[in-house]
Amino acid sequence: HLYTKDEVRQMVKDEDIRFLRVMFTDVFGTIKSVDLPVSQLDKLMDNKIMFDGSSIDGFVRIEESDMYLYPDMSTWLTFPWGADHGKVARVICSVHMTDGTPFSGDPRNNLKRVLKEMQQMGFKSFNIGPEPEFFLFKTDENGNPTTKVNDSENYFDMEPADVGEDCRRDIVLVLEKMGFDVEAAHHEVAPGQHEVDFKYSDALEAADNIQTFKLVVKTIAKKYGLHATFMPKPLSGINGSGMHLNMSLFTQDGQNAFFDENDKEQLSETAYHFLGGLMKHARSYTAIVNPIVNSYKRLVPGYEAPVYVAWSTSNRSPLVRIPNDRGMGTRLELRSADPAANPYLAIAAVLAAGLDGLQNNLPPVHNVDENIYDMTAKERKSKGIVNLPDTLHSALKDLAEDDVIKGSMGEHLYQSFEEAKTREYDAYRAHVSDWERQRYMEQY
Ligand code: GLU
Ligand code: MG
Ligand code: MG
Repeated sequence: HLYTKDEVRQMVKDEDIRFLRVMFTDVFGTIKSVDLPVSQLDKLMDNKIMFDGSSIDGFVRIEESDMYLYPDMSTWLTFPWGADHGKVARVICSVHMTDGTPFSGDPRNNLKRVLKEMQQMGFKSFNIGPEPEFFLFKTDENGNPTTKVNDSENYFDMEPADVGEDCRRDIVLVLEKMGFDVEAAHHEVAPGQHEVDFKYSDALEAADNIQTFKLVVKTIAKKYGLHATFMPKPLSGINGSGMHLNMSLFTQDGQNAFFDENDKEQLSETAYHFLGGLMKHARSYTAIVNPIVNSYKRLVPGYEAPVYVAWSTSNRSPLVRIPNDRGMGTRLELRSADPAANPYLAIAAVLAAGLDGLQNNLPPVHNVDENIYDMTAKERKSKGIVNLPDTLHSALKDLAEDDVIKGSMGEHLYQSFEEAKTREYDAYRAHVSDWERQRYMEQY
Protein backbone atom coordinates (compact mmCIF):
# COMPACT_ATOMS: atom_id res chain seq x y z
CA HIS A 1 0.00 0.00 0.00
CA LEU A 2 1.37 3.41 -0.94
CA TYR A 3 0.51 5.68 1.97
CA THR A 4 -0.24 9.34 1.37
CA LYS A 5 1.63 11.91 3.42
CA ASP A 6 -1.46 12.60 5.48
CA GLU A 7 -2.03 8.93 6.17
CA VAL A 8 1.56 8.63 7.37
CA ARG A 9 1.22 11.65 9.65
CA GLN A 10 -1.94 10.14 11.09
CA MET A 11 -0.28 6.76 11.67
CA VAL A 12 2.64 8.39 13.41
CA LYS A 13 0.22 10.12 15.77
CA ASP A 14 -2.05 7.11 16.35
CA GLU A 15 0.78 4.69 17.00
CA ASP A 16 2.92 7.17 18.93
CA ILE A 17 5.92 6.66 16.69
CA ARG A 18 9.00 8.54 17.93
CA PHE A 19 11.70 7.40 15.57
CA LEU A 20 12.03 6.73 11.88
CA ARG A 21 14.51 4.14 10.79
CA VAL A 22 15.40 4.78 7.18
CA MET A 23 17.17 1.86 5.56
CA PHE A 24 19.13 1.11 2.42
CA THR A 25 21.59 -1.61 1.45
CA ASP A 26 25.23 -1.36 0.39
CA VAL A 27 26.93 -3.49 -2.25
CA PHE A 28 27.79 -6.21 0.33
CA GLY A 29 24.17 -6.61 1.33
CA THR A 30 24.74 -4.88 4.66
CA ILE A 31 21.78 -2.89 5.87
CA LYS A 32 22.64 0.74 6.45
CA SER A 33 20.24 2.70 8.52
CA VAL A 34 19.82 6.18 9.88
CA ASP A 35 17.53 6.88 12.80
CA LEU A 36 15.65 10.12 12.58
CA PRO A 37 13.50 11.67 15.28
CA VAL A 38 9.94 11.89 14.10
CA SER A 39 10.27 15.68 13.79
CA GLN A 40 12.10 14.96 10.51
CA LEU A 41 9.12 13.19 8.96
CA ASP A 42 8.15 15.95 6.53
CA LYS A 43 11.72 16.44 5.44
CA LEU A 44 11.96 12.69 4.80
CA MET A 45 8.73 12.60 2.81
CA ASP A 46 9.99 15.54 0.73
CA ASN A 47 13.12 13.55 -0.25
CA LYS A 48 15.34 16.00 1.61
CA ILE A 49 17.32 13.68 3.91
CA MET A 50 20.96 13.99 2.98
CA PHE A 51 23.86 11.72 3.94
CA ASP A 52 27.54 11.36 3.19
CA GLY A 53 27.83 8.79 0.43
CA SER A 54 31.61 8.59 0.71
CA SER A 55 31.30 6.95 4.11
CA ILE A 56 29.51 3.95 2.58
CA ASP A 57 31.79 1.25 1.13
CA GLY A 58 31.59 1.09 -2.63
CA PHE A 59 29.41 4.17 -3.02
CA VAL A 60 31.16 7.36 -4.15
CA ARG A 61 34.35 9.31 -3.76
CA ILE A 62 34.68 12.16 -1.31
CA GLU A 63 34.24 14.93 -3.87
CA GLU A 64 30.75 13.86 -4.84
CA SER A 65 29.62 12.69 -1.47
CA ASP A 66 26.28 14.42 -0.91
CA MET A 67 23.50 11.97 -1.54
CA TYR A 68 19.80 11.90 -0.81
CA LEU A 69 17.48 9.25 0.58
CA TYR A 70 14.11 8.98 -1.14
CA PRO A 71 11.72 6.95 0.98
CA ASP A 72 9.57 4.31 -0.68
CA MET A 73 6.39 4.87 1.28
CA SER A 74 4.98 1.49 0.29
CA THR A 75 7.59 -0.05 2.62
CA TRP A 76 6.40 1.85 5.69
CA LEU A 77 5.86 -0.35 8.74
CA THR A 78 6.13 -0.20 12.50
CA PHE A 79 8.52 -2.38 14.45
CA PRO A 80 6.66 -4.13 17.24
CA TRP A 81 9.45 -3.47 19.74
CA GLY A 82 11.30 -0.53 21.24
CA ALA A 83 8.19 0.78 22.93
CA ASP A 84 10.05 2.19 25.99
CA HIS A 85 11.58 5.06 24.04
CA GLY A 86 8.64 5.34 21.72
CA LYS A 87 7.92 3.18 18.74
CA VAL A 88 10.10 2.94 15.65
CA ALA A 89 8.82 2.82 12.07
CA ARG A 90 10.98 1.66 9.23
CA VAL A 91 10.96 2.82 5.67
CA ILE A 92 13.22 1.61 2.88
CA CYS A 93 14.84 4.26 0.74
CA SER A 94 16.51 4.52 -2.58
CA VAL A 95 19.65 6.60 -2.98
CA HIS A 96 19.70 9.60 -5.29
CA MET A 97 22.28 12.05 -6.53
CA THR A 98 22.06 15.79 -5.83
CA ASP A 99 20.42 16.33 -9.23
CA GLY A 100 17.71 13.82 -8.35
CA THR A 101 18.81 10.96 -10.59
CA PRO A 102 18.78 7.49 -9.04
CA PHE A 103 22.27 6.48 -7.94
CA SER A 104 23.38 3.49 -10.02
CA GLY A 105 25.53 2.14 -7.17
CA ASP A 106 22.41 1.54 -5.06
CA PRO A 107 21.55 -2.18 -5.39
CA ARG A 108 17.84 -1.45 -4.94
CA ASN A 109 17.79 1.08 -7.78
CA ASN A 110 19.68 -1.46 -9.84
CA LEU A 111 17.09 -4.18 -9.24
CA LYS A 112 14.37 -1.74 -10.32
CA ARG A 113 16.30 -1.14 -13.53
CA VAL A 114 16.48 -4.87 -14.35
CA LEU A 115 12.79 -5.30 -13.46
CA LYS A 116 11.98 -2.57 -15.96
CA GLU A 117 13.74 -4.57 -18.67
CA MET A 118 11.57 -7.53 -17.74
CA GLN A 119 8.45 -5.39 -17.98
CA GLN A 120 9.50 -4.22 -21.41
CA MET A 121 9.54 -7.87 -22.42
CA GLY A 122 5.87 -8.07 -21.47
CA PHE A 123 5.93 -9.57 -17.98
CA LYS A 124 4.23 -8.05 -14.99
CA SER A 125 6.32 -9.39 -12.14
CA PHE A 126 9.19 -11.61 -11.12
CA ASN A 127 8.10 -13.43 -8.00
CA ILE A 128 10.50 -14.64 -5.37
CA GLY A 129 9.79 -16.99 -2.48
CA PRO A 130 12.96 -17.10 -0.36
CA GLU A 131 13.84 -19.85 2.12
CA PRO A 132 16.50 -18.33 4.37
CA GLU A 133 18.22 -20.67 6.83
CA PHE A 134 20.22 -19.56 9.86
CA PHE A 135 21.91 -20.81 13.01
CA LEU A 136 21.27 -19.81 16.58
CA PHE A 137 24.36 -19.92 18.76
CA LYS A 138 24.74 -19.43 22.47
CA THR A 139 26.51 -16.29 23.61
CA ASP A 140 29.17 -16.09 26.33
CA GLU A 141 29.05 -13.96 29.48
CA ASN A 142 30.14 -10.90 27.46
CA GLY A 143 27.38 -11.39 24.94
CA ASN A 144 29.76 -12.53 22.19
CA PRO A 145 28.73 -15.42 19.95
CA THR A 146 30.16 -18.87 20.75
CA THR A 147 30.10 -21.84 18.39
CA LYS A 148 27.81 -23.78 20.72
CA VAL A 149 24.33 -24.41 19.46
CA ASN A 150 21.70 -24.76 22.07
CA ASP A 151 19.79 -27.83 20.97
CA SER A 152 20.91 -31.44 20.32
CA GLU A 153 24.48 -30.68 21.27
CA ASN A 154 23.14 -30.64 24.78
CA TYR A 155 21.06 -33.66 24.03
CA PHE A 156 21.21 -34.98 27.58
CA ASP A 157 20.44 -31.69 29.26
CA MET A 158 17.07 -31.95 30.90
CA GLU A 159 16.00 -28.52 29.82
CA PRO A 160 12.22 -28.48 29.73
CA ALA A 161 11.95 -26.11 26.80
CA ASP A 162 14.21 -25.54 23.87
CA VAL A 163 15.14 -21.85 23.86
CA GLY A 164 15.86 -22.05 20.12
CA GLU A 165 12.33 -23.21 19.34
CA ASP A 166 10.84 -20.49 21.54
CA CYS A 167 13.00 -17.93 19.86
CA ARG A 168 11.93 -19.09 16.40
CA ARG A 169 8.26 -18.95 17.36
CA ASP A 170 8.75 -15.43 18.63
CA ILE A 171 10.42 -14.48 15.35
CA VAL A 172 7.42 -15.76 13.41
CA LEU A 173 4.97 -13.91 15.65
CA VAL A 174 6.87 -10.65 15.27
CA LEU A 175 7.05 -11.08 11.50
CA GLU A 176 3.33 -11.71 11.32
CA LYS A 177 2.66 -8.63 13.41
CA MET A 178 4.72 -6.70 10.87
CA GLY A 179 2.56 -8.02 8.06
CA PHE A 180 4.82 -10.78 6.72
CA ASP A 181 3.13 -13.79 5.20
CA VAL A 182 5.07 -16.63 6.85
CA GLU A 183 4.34 -19.96 5.16
CA ALA A 184 6.44 -22.27 7.29
CA ALA A 185 9.04 -22.22 10.01
CA HIS A 186 10.92 -25.30 11.04
CA HIS A 187 14.03 -26.72 12.52
CA GLU A 188 16.54 -27.59 9.81
CA VAL A 189 18.71 -30.68 9.48
CA ALA A 190 21.70 -29.37 11.44
CA PRO A 191 21.61 -28.80 15.20
CA GLY A 192 20.86 -25.19 16.01
CA GLN A 193 19.69 -24.53 12.45
CA HIS A 194 16.33 -23.04 11.54
CA GLU A 195 14.40 -21.97 8.46
CA VAL A 196 11.57 -19.52 7.96
CA ASP A 197 9.83 -19.46 4.57
CA PHE A 198 7.71 -16.60 3.42
CA LYS A 199 5.12 -16.48 0.73
CA TYR A 200 6.35 -15.31 -2.64
CA SER A 201 6.09 -11.67 -3.49
CA ASP A 202 7.24 -9.35 -6.18
CA ALA A 203 11.07 -9.24 -6.44
CA LEU A 204 11.59 -5.80 -4.91
CA GLU A 205 9.34 -6.52 -1.97
CA ALA A 206 10.96 -9.93 -1.49
CA ALA A 207 14.43 -8.35 -1.34
CA ASP A 208 13.21 -5.70 1.12
CA ASN A 209 11.62 -8.47 3.18
CA ILE A 210 14.81 -10.50 3.29
CA GLN A 211 16.69 -7.50 4.67
CA THR A 212 14.06 -6.77 7.29
CA PHE A 213 13.84 -10.47 8.13
CA LYS A 214 17.55 -10.61 8.98
CA LEU A 215 17.18 -7.61 11.26
CA VAL A 216 14.20 -9.18 13.04
CA VAL A 217 15.94 -12.55 13.49
CA LYS A 218 19.05 -10.95 14.97
CA THR A 219 17.06 -8.67 17.24
CA ILE A 220 14.81 -11.40 18.64
CA ALA A 221 17.70 -13.86 19.04
CA LYS A 222 19.50 -11.32 21.21
CA LYS A 223 16.48 -11.11 23.46
CA TYR A 224 16.89 -14.84 24.09
CA GLY A 225 20.60 -14.54 24.76
CA LEU A 226 21.36 -16.17 21.41
CA HIS A 227 23.31 -15.03 18.39
CA ALA A 228 21.69 -15.55 14.99
CA THR A 229 24.02 -15.91 12.03
CA PHE A 230 23.36 -16.05 8.30
CA MET A 231 26.94 -17.04 7.62
CA PRO A 232 26.63 -19.84 5.03
CA LYS A 233 28.81 -22.46 6.73
CA PRO A 234 29.51 -21.68 10.37
CA LEU A 235 30.55 -25.23 11.37
CA SER A 236 32.38 -27.87 9.39
CA GLY A 237 30.96 -31.36 9.22
CA ILE A 238 27.28 -30.39 9.28
CA ASN A 239 24.93 -28.67 6.82
CA GLY A 240 25.39 -25.02 6.04
CA SER A 241 22.71 -22.39 5.54
CA GLY A 242 21.25 -21.73 2.14
CA MET A 243 18.66 -19.28 0.94
CA HIS A 244 16.85 -21.14 -1.82
CA LEU A 245 15.12 -18.79 -4.21
CA ASN A 246 11.81 -19.95 -5.68
CA MET A 247 11.09 -17.94 -8.79
CA SER A 248 8.36 -17.44 -11.34
CA LEU A 249 7.33 -14.86 -13.93
CA PHE A 250 3.77 -13.56 -14.05
CA THR A 251 2.14 -12.21 -17.20
CA GLN A 252 0.27 -8.90 -17.47
CA ASP A 253 -3.03 -10.67 -16.79
CA GLY A 254 -1.69 -12.28 -13.64
CA GLN A 255 -1.04 -15.77 -15.01
CA ASN A 256 2.02 -17.81 -14.13
CA ALA A 257 4.11 -17.74 -17.31
CA PHE A 258 5.98 -20.92 -16.31
CA PHE A 259 2.85 -23.09 -16.41
CA ASP A 260 1.53 -24.90 -19.49
CA GLU A 261 -0.92 -27.71 -18.92
CA ASN A 262 -0.27 -29.18 -22.38
CA ASP A 263 3.40 -29.92 -21.83
CA LYS A 264 4.38 -33.32 -20.45
CA GLU A 265 5.99 -31.66 -17.41
CA GLN A 266 3.32 -28.92 -17.51
CA LEU A 267 6.04 -26.35 -18.00
CA SER A 268 5.88 -23.60 -20.62
CA GLU A 269 8.38 -22.65 -23.30
CA THR A 270 9.07 -19.59 -21.14
CA ALA A 271 9.98 -21.82 -18.21
CA TYR A 272 12.30 -23.95 -20.34
CA HIS A 273 14.13 -20.95 -21.83
CA PHE A 274 14.39 -19.24 -18.46
CA LEU A 275 15.89 -22.48 -17.16
CA GLY A 276 18.24 -22.47 -20.14
CA GLY A 277 19.46 -19.04 -19.04
CA LEU A 278 19.90 -20.19 -15.45
CA MET A 279 22.01 -23.13 -16.71
CA LYS A 280 24.09 -21.14 -19.16
CA HIS A 281 25.03 -18.40 -16.70
CA ALA A 282 25.20 -20.57 -13.58
CA ARG A 283 28.92 -20.30 -13.02
CA SER A 284 28.92 -16.55 -13.53
CA TYR A 285 26.10 -15.54 -11.17
CA THR A 286 27.60 -17.75 -8.45
CA ALA A 287 29.89 -14.93 -7.21
CA ILE A 288 26.74 -12.87 -6.63
CA VAL A 289 24.52 -15.49 -5.01
CA ASN A 290 27.45 -16.95 -3.03
CA PRO A 291 29.49 -13.82 -2.39
CA ILE A 292 31.86 -14.62 0.47
CA VAL A 293 34.87 -16.87 0.96
CA ASN A 294 32.84 -18.98 3.38
CA SER A 295 30.02 -19.55 0.83
CA TYR A 296 32.22 -22.08 -0.96
CA LYS A 297 32.63 -24.24 2.12
CA ARG A 298 28.90 -24.89 1.90
CA LEU A 299 28.89 -25.85 -1.79
CA VAL A 300 30.55 -29.24 -1.22
CA PRO A 301 29.13 -32.77 -1.60
CA GLY A 302 27.28 -34.36 1.28
CA TYR A 303 25.38 -31.47 2.88
CA GLU A 304 22.28 -30.96 0.70
CA ALA A 305 23.85 -28.01 -1.06
CA PRO A 306 24.40 -28.10 -4.84
CA VAL A 307 27.79 -28.69 -6.42
CA TYR A 308 26.90 -29.32 -10.07
CA VAL A 309 25.17 -27.28 -12.75
CA ALA A 310 22.05 -29.31 -13.52
CA TRP A 311 18.30 -29.26 -13.02
CA SER A 312 15.71 -31.84 -12.10
CA THR A 313 11.99 -32.24 -11.49
CA SER A 314 12.56 -35.19 -9.25
CA ASN A 315 15.57 -34.88 -7.02
CA ARG A 316 17.18 -32.32 -4.79
CA SER A 317 20.83 -32.69 -5.63
CA PRO A 318 21.01 -30.30 -8.61
CA LEU A 319 21.38 -26.55 -8.78
CA VAL A 320 17.78 -25.99 -9.88
CA ARG A 321 14.91 -28.11 -8.70
CA ILE A 322 11.38 -27.85 -10.04
CA PRO A 323 9.03 -28.52 -7.13
CA ASN A 324 5.84 -30.48 -7.81
CA ASP A 325 3.34 -27.61 -7.67
CA ARG A 326 1.83 -26.51 -10.94
CA GLY A 327 -0.69 -23.85 -11.92
CA MET A 328 -0.04 -20.59 -10.08
CA GLY A 329 2.58 -22.32 -7.91
CA THR A 330 4.78 -23.37 -10.84
CA ARG A 331 8.31 -22.28 -10.03
CA LEU A 332 12.00 -22.92 -10.33
CA GLU A 333 13.97 -23.31 -7.11
CA LEU A 334 17.58 -22.15 -7.23
CA ARG A 335 19.35 -24.06 -4.46
CA SER A 336 22.81 -22.51 -4.55
CA ALA A 337 21.99 -19.03 -3.21
CA ASP A 338 22.94 -18.40 0.41
CA PRO A 339 21.83 -15.79 2.92
CA ALA A 340 25.12 -13.84 2.69
CA ALA A 341 23.99 -12.74 -0.78
CA ASN A 342 22.85 -9.19 -1.31
CA PRO A 343 19.22 -10.02 -2.17
CA TYR A 344 18.85 -7.09 -4.59
CA LEU A 345 21.92 -8.11 -6.58
CA ALA A 346 21.17 -11.83 -6.41
CA ILE A 347 17.63 -11.44 -7.70
CA ALA A 348 18.73 -9.04 -10.46
CA ALA A 349 21.42 -11.53 -11.54
CA VAL A 350 19.17 -14.59 -11.78
CA LEU A 351 16.49 -12.55 -13.53
CA ALA A 352 19.01 -11.32 -16.09
CA ALA A 353 20.18 -14.91 -16.64
CA GLY A 354 16.61 -16.11 -17.19
CA LEU A 355 15.68 -13.22 -19.48
CA ASP A 356 18.77 -13.90 -21.57
CA GLY A 357 17.46 -17.45 -21.93
CA LEU A 358 14.14 -16.07 -23.22
CA GLN A 359 15.71 -13.57 -25.60
CA ASN A 360 18.00 -16.15 -27.14
CA ASN A 361 15.70 -19.19 -26.93
CA LEU A 362 18.30 -21.04 -24.90
CA PRO A 363 17.61 -24.77 -24.52
CA PRO A 364 17.10 -26.21 -21.03
CA VAL A 365 20.28 -28.27 -21.06
CA HIS A 366 21.58 -30.35 -18.13
CA ASN A 367 18.39 -32.12 -17.10
CA VAL A 368 19.59 -34.88 -14.79
CA ASP A 369 17.17 -36.98 -12.79
CA GLU A 370 19.64 -39.44 -11.29
CA ASN A 371 21.60 -38.60 -8.17
CA ILE A 372 24.63 -36.73 -9.51
CA TYR A 373 26.62 -37.51 -6.37
CA ASP A 374 26.49 -41.21 -7.25
CA MET A 375 28.11 -40.62 -10.66
CA THR A 376 31.80 -40.92 -11.33
CA ALA A 377 33.68 -37.91 -12.67
CA LYS A 378 33.79 -39.68 -16.02
CA GLU A 379 30.02 -40.18 -16.13
CA ARG A 380 29.47 -36.54 -15.28
CA LYS A 381 31.85 -35.52 -18.01
CA SER A 382 30.11 -37.65 -20.60
CA LYS A 383 26.81 -35.98 -19.71
CA GLY A 384 28.39 -32.52 -19.91
CA ILE A 385 27.77 -31.73 -16.25
CA VAL A 386 30.13 -29.06 -14.92
CA ASN A 387 30.84 -28.03 -11.33
CA LEU A 388 29.87 -24.77 -9.73
CA PRO A 389 32.96 -22.65 -8.98
CA ASP A 390 34.74 -24.00 -5.92
CA THR A 391 36.21 -20.77 -4.61
CA LEU A 392 35.28 -17.11 -4.62
CA HIS A 393 38.32 -16.55 -6.81
CA SER A 394 37.13 -18.94 -9.47
CA ALA A 395 33.58 -17.53 -9.29
CA LEU A 396 34.88 -13.98 -9.83
CA LYS A 397 36.78 -15.13 -12.91
CA ASP A 398 33.60 -16.52 -14.44
CA LEU A 399 31.68 -13.38 -13.59
CA ALA A 400 34.32 -11.21 -15.26
CA GLU A 401 33.76 -13.05 -18.52
CA ASP A 402 29.98 -12.81 -18.62
CA ASP A 403 28.57 -9.55 -19.96
CA VAL A 404 24.97 -10.53 -19.27
CA ILE A 405 25.55 -11.06 -15.56
CA LYS A 406 27.93 -8.12 -15.22
CA GLY A 407 25.22 -6.12 -16.97
CA SER A 408 22.75 -7.16 -14.28
CA MET A 409 24.83 -5.12 -11.82
CA GLY A 410 25.73 -2.23 -14.04
CA GLU A 411 29.15 -0.67 -14.30
CA HIS A 412 29.37 1.05 -10.92
CA LEU A 413 28.21 -1.89 -8.81
CA TYR A 414 30.33 -4.36 -10.73
CA GLN A 415 33.48 -2.27 -10.23
CA SER A 416 33.00 -1.92 -6.48
CA PHE A 417 31.96 -5.55 -6.12
CA GLU A 418 34.89 -6.87 -8.09
CA GLU A 419 37.46 -4.76 -6.26
CA ALA A 420 36.13 -5.51 -2.80
CA LYS A 421 35.72 -9.23 -3.44
CA THR A 422 39.19 -9.57 -4.91
CA ARG A 423 40.61 -7.90 -1.80
CA GLU A 424 38.53 -10.22 0.37
CA TYR A 425 39.82 -13.30 -1.42
CA ASP A 426 43.43 -12.09 -1.32
CA ALA A 427 43.22 -11.53 2.43
CA TYR A 428 41.88 -15.06 2.86
CA ARG A 429 44.55 -16.55 0.63
CA ALA A 430 47.31 -14.92 2.67
CA HIS A 431 45.96 -16.27 5.95
CA VAL A 432 47.53 -19.43 7.39
CA SER A 433 44.90 -21.45 9.22
CA ASP A 434 44.89 -23.90 12.14
CA TRP A 435 43.90 -26.66 9.75
CA GLU A 436 47.16 -26.19 7.85
CA ARG A 437 49.32 -26.16 10.98
CA GLN A 438 47.61 -29.26 12.34
CA ARG A 439 48.01 -31.03 9.05
CA TYR A 440 51.55 -30.01 8.08
CA MET A 441 53.55 -28.78 11.05
CA GLU A 442 54.83 -32.21 12.04
CA GLN A 443 54.61 -33.94 8.72
CA TYR A 444 57.03 -31.54 7.04
N1 GLU B 1 20.80 -26.52 4.38
C1 GLU B 1 20.82 -27.00 3.01
C2 GLU B 1 21.71 -26.08 2.16
O1 GLU B 1 22.77 -25.76 2.54
C3 GLU B 1 19.45 -27.09 2.40
C4 GLU B 1 18.50 -28.02 3.09
C5 GLU B 1 17.13 -28.00 2.42
O2 GLU B 1 16.92 -28.73 1.45
O3 GLU B 1 16.30 -27.18 2.84
O4 GLU B 1 21.34 -25.65 1.09
MG1 MG C 1 15.88 -25.74 4.07
MG1 MG D 1 14.09 -25.51 -0.50
